[in-house]
Amino acid sequence: MSRYKTPEQKKAHCEAQRRYKERHPDKAYAPKRGNWVLNRDNYARRNPEKFKAHKTLERAVRRGNIIRPNSCVKCLRPCKPQAHHTDYSKPLFVMWLCRPCHLQEHGCKVRNYREGDPRP
Ligand SMILES: [Zn+2]
Ligand SMILES: [Zn+2]
Repeated sequence: MSRYKTPEQKKAHCEAQRRYKERHPDKAYAPKRGNWVLNRDNYARRNPEKFKAHKTLERAVRRGNIIRPNSCVKCLRPCKPQAHHTDYSKPLFVMWLCRPCHLQEHGCKVRNYREGDPRP
């Protein structure tokens, strides 16, 4: 599902967001609310459902209830894949994707993702 009609449109939107971010480093975009919010409004508070899903999954992986494969399910490249949630209401239902495939899966949104944040 995409709200962009063309890849160009999507790219232009990404560019606009990036430029805004450069001019306003203290702000972050909250896609759900569709507006710019102060950065101190952190990831967990902005995305409680995603945050919870990642925590639940992390726990399951640590306990061995879920086994992380050692390759990407999309391109089959051997790696330590990242968990991609297709539905956050099913925290244990994930796709294991390498970073490039994971970024692709999210389009431009993930480019602002910082190391250390819970994964998108
Ligand atoms: Zn991949
Ligand atoms: Zn993902």
